[in-house]
Amino acid sequence: MVRCHDLVGDLFPHVRALLLERVFFEYGVVRLVAGTQPIGVACPACAAVSNRVHSMYARRLEDTPVGDRPVVIELTVRRLYCENSACMRRTFAEQIDGLTIRYGRRTPSARRLSEAVTVALAGHAGARLAAALHIGVSRTTLLWAIMALPDPAWAVPKVLGVDDFATRRRHHYGTVLIDCETGQPLDLLNGRDAATLAGRLRERPGTEIICRDRAGSYADGARTGAPNAVQVADRFHLWQNLGTAVEAGIRLRIRCLKKAVASPDGLTNDGYGVGATKAMSPIEARIRERHATIHALLAQGHGIRERSPENCTSAVTPSAAMHARRSPNSC
Ligand SMILES: [Zn+2]
Repeated sequence: MVRCHDLVGDLFPHVRALLLERVFFEYGVVRLVAGTQPIGVACPACAAVSNRVHSMYARRLEDTPVGDRPVVIELTVRRLYCENSACMRRTFAEQIDGLTIRYGRRTPSARRLSEAVTVALAGHAGARLAAALHIGVSRTTLLWAIMALPDPAWAVPKVLGVDDFATRRRHHYGTVLIDCETGQPLDLLNGRDAATLAGRLRERPGTEIICRDRAGSYADGARTGAPNAVQVADRFHLWQNLGTAVEAGIRLRIRCLKKAVASPDGLTNDGYGVGATKAMSPIEARIRERHATIHALLAQGHGIRERSPENCTSAVTPSAAMHARRSPNSC
């Protein structure tokens, strides 16, 4: 047989240090009413212990749910005088170790639970899961909570990846640092200028190779912040630059290429790119069929919303129709 008092202590071990007055269920919520022990508390400014009460007030702490029911701790705490005449604080509010923090509205276990939801989902999805877990928290609060989490510690990698990212395209950019050997993101910097990168490299010296975006600011930042590191261009940007150069070359010579492939050697120039062979893959055949169907419908005066299964043998989506309209090869 388990006594009720022991059961409450097992279910709510974090309230053992309190004077628990009663536990009751009201309006779908388990409520614990408690006060603090009449013992001396150290002033947070000078550490002088005081037991002289200035006033008392109620705090409401949200706790982790029990039995699929939300739990609230209604806690009465004391405001105490600091009796050290040399201390700047006249009064201070007592905090209970392992249960309360200044301005905190949740117990540590409820805070850990909401942080886990925040890290996993954040935003709207996190708020929906939190509601299912009986955690009363908005998406905005979850976002604030994730920003308040301390950054994980990281060791200086041997090969450091540096690239930019946009928080608001064409207006504001940041820099992401990555451990190229593990693929682990390490840090985010506000801005993508040379001084920002150089400052961080000086703070965390030891990188041997910097694999970076080809931007000149990163070259300057790496040169001044880590002069002994070897700078290399990363593979993504090399491929991207190669692709851009090839595309530009083809655009410059598109007329010559069209003439060159208008020969009966198995190559065609039919609007889908120079050099396409007559043998088509099933996907390519389906795309061509849809393209032709969409243009036939558009030529007949049909809008995108007016299409019907009778008029179109293949499924034509609005995005496909828009693609057909925007296609540089379209008629
Ligand atoms: Zn004090």
